[in-house]
Amino acid sequence: MDEKTFDGRRDELPATLPRFTSAPPPRCQTVLRNDPIQFCGRTASWFRPARLERLASVHCDRHRSIADIALPVERIVRVVRVEAVITFAGVSSAAVASQTEAAARLRTAVEAIGGRLENLSCTSQMGRAATKRPQGGDGETGEGG
Ligand SMILES: [Zn+2]
Repeated sequence: MDEKTFDGRRDELPATLPRFTSAPPPRCQTVLRNDPIQFCGRTASWFRPARLERLASVHCDRHRSIADIALPVERIVRVVRVEAVITFAGVSSAAVASQTEAAARLRTAVEAIGGRLENLSCTSQMGRAATKRPQGGDGETGEGG
């Protein structure tokens, strides 16, 4: 059984799926009807075994059911990798200080939403940029005088 044939309706672990040596913490799979992201996504501590037509799932403390059990030692997970280019204004004119601060800030943000930052590399470049000033609202018109 591989990823394409595993339907999640059984709790056995397909031997052909790869084994992650390190995976990010599991996240709650509860569907939120009125949320633009649609899923809870908090760190999950509870396992809901597959039953009838319902797939096995994991849930956070807030969304656990009384019949849920503690997470099994080994479970099936889908690890999502997101690749993006993220830019920050540097906090220093020194490259190392700016890159170290930006990496730490990004790592903190990613971990706060349940992810894990891997293979991080930073570069930076000095250059000129125009400052955008807020338009109105504070009594200033943006015009001289
Ligand atoms: Zn939840």
